[in-house]
Amino acid sequence: MTDADVVIVGAGPAGLMLAAELCLAGVRPLVLERQPHRRDTPKAGGLGGQILELLRYRGLLERFEAACTGPVPAPRFPFGGVHLDFTRLADPPLHALPLPQQPLERLLEERAGEVGVDLRRGHEVTGVSQDDAAVTVDVRGPDGPYQVIARYLVGCDGARSRVRDRAGIGFPGTTYPEVNRLAQVTLPDAVTVLGDGGLDVPGFGTIRPGFTRTDHGLFGIGASPGSQAVSLYTIEDESAEYDDDAPMTVSELQDSIRRVLGVRLPVGEALRLSRFTFKARQADRYRHGRILLAGDAAHLFPATGVALNAGMLDAVNLAWKLAADLHGWAPAGLLDTYHGERHLAGARTMVHTRAQVALRRGHDAAAEALREVFQELLADEQPLRRMGALVAGSDIRYPMPGPGHHPLAGTFAPDLTLHTDQGITGVAELMRPARPILLVLADRPDLCRAAEAWRHRVDIHTAKTDQRPADALLIRPDAHIAWAATVDEPADTAAHALREALTGWFGTP
Ligand SMILES: Cc1cc2nc3c(=O)[nH]c(=O)nc-3n(C[C@H](O)[C@H](O)[C@H](O)COP(=O)(O)OP(=O)(O)OC[C@H]3O[C@@H](n4cnc5c(N)ncnc54)[C@H](O)[C@@H]3O)c2cc1C
Repeated sequence: MTDADVVIVGAGPAGLMLAAELCLAGVRPLVLERQPHRRDTPKAGGLGGQILELLRYRGLLERFEAACTGPVPAPRFPFGGVHLDFTRLADPPLHALPLPQQPLERLLEERAGEVGVDLRRGHEVTGVSQDDAAVTVDVRGPDGPYQVIARYLVGCDGARSRVRDRAGIGFPGTTYPEVNRLAQVTLPDAVTVLGDGGLDVPGFGTIRPGFTRTDHGLFGIGASPGSQAVSLYTIEDESAEYDDDAPMTVSELQDSIRRVLGVRLPVGEALRLSRFTFKARQADRYRHGRILLAGDAAHLFPATGVALNAGMLDAVNLAWKLAADLHGWAPAGLLDTYHGERHLAGARTMVHTRAQVALRRGHDAAAEALREVFQELLADEQPLRRMGALVAGSDIRYPMPGPGHHPLAGTFAPDLTLHTDQGITGVAELMRPARPILLVLADRPDLCRAAEAWRHRVDIHTAKTDQRPADALLIRPDAHIAWAATVDEPADTAAHALREALTGWFGTP
């Protein structure tokens, strides 16, 4: 029997991110992963959204960029068969890295190792039970079964989460009766590739890059940056449910293409083959007592490109709150804000990914018209920016307790350039250690004095910035603004409000 403060089930992106963030917050979790080695089934082809900003705030983005498979492409994003094209914008609201999930997991595991995470591979969690004081975890390890007693357990164990089932947490939603197959393949000489990247397929005719609809499904062609291969994509209505970790074969791809196009398309070597079904499901609660959920265990969205962002941001939101609880200074209700905030964020992602299903799945003239109208709207900058922020998850404003908040409270802290006594720095730089920050941006010694008693928990910085968004910002370790000083507020009211915010988020000193 072993004891642990926190057991994390699953060393996927959510579990590894959570583990590293917990270590930064001074808690050493035990990660139990059933696979003896890092998996090689291809899953995500890239990482995008607000998590990239967060990685930059932790000083990790350069490392992730260096591991990309090709040049970072100009931002374009498929949105239910319509394209969000940000190439015209100098400062696009959505960024993505061509960083497939395998190198992503390697980097996250490396980082977890650097900060001291205890990761046990080949250890499968077979049972979970809890009482008021602890969680009992049954594990099957290489040397046989054993138990761990933990103060908390987080299920980062993916779509088919056993933790979620054992905790009795509902996972309502829809599984769409369609299967997506995605491949990167070389094409034999017998296939004519046209100048624009399209294909001339005998028996079918010319197929342009992008999506082609037939009566039997959707066929897509795309360039494969940095290689001679092409990306091929099919979507067919099919009610079979697959295990996402079960590998796909070239003949499965070819059969699918034949069904969709009605003709055979020869393919050469496969560099990547993957298949997935779309589900729209969200756990009805992210916390049940001492058991919490994050990542795919908590939500599955019916569109690509958003799941890693959502799952890794869950982890960042949860880590410091869990650590505060374990360190004994969490104010009442802090841990429950994890569900309050991240369930809300998940529901927002669900709204736009479900909208993508409606846009994508319609086959009739009305659906065609809807896509056309949508594409037309997205030619304008303002709606394009709004959709970009929605997909990135950067427009989330977490609900703040109590009345009368500054408009910035609950939003992601901007990376202001800061002039300090030590030189020029930025919010991103200050967020590296993942500690709470009080950033005083005006001549407000009253606010510094009010926060003095929290100095052991909250870093206090005074700085000047060109476009001051508020006299002071209180920033949580997940880079969200907990409180901002309201302009023209009398000094004693502001100091009182700051003390309340400090107590509400970071406990009594
Ligand atoms: C083909 C495909 C393409 C995708 N493309 C994208 C994309 O482009 N962008 C994007 O954002 N997302 C994409 N996704 C989704 C993305 O892969 C998932 O959202 C992501 O892997 C979820 O991470 P996670 O850590 O929550 O769970 P997982 O990655 O599923 O990790 C869960 C881990 O838990 C372990 N585990 C499970 N049960 C136990 C147990 N009982 N005991 C111990 N360990 C256990 C598993 O072995 C696994 O390692 C794609 C998925 C697929 C299948």
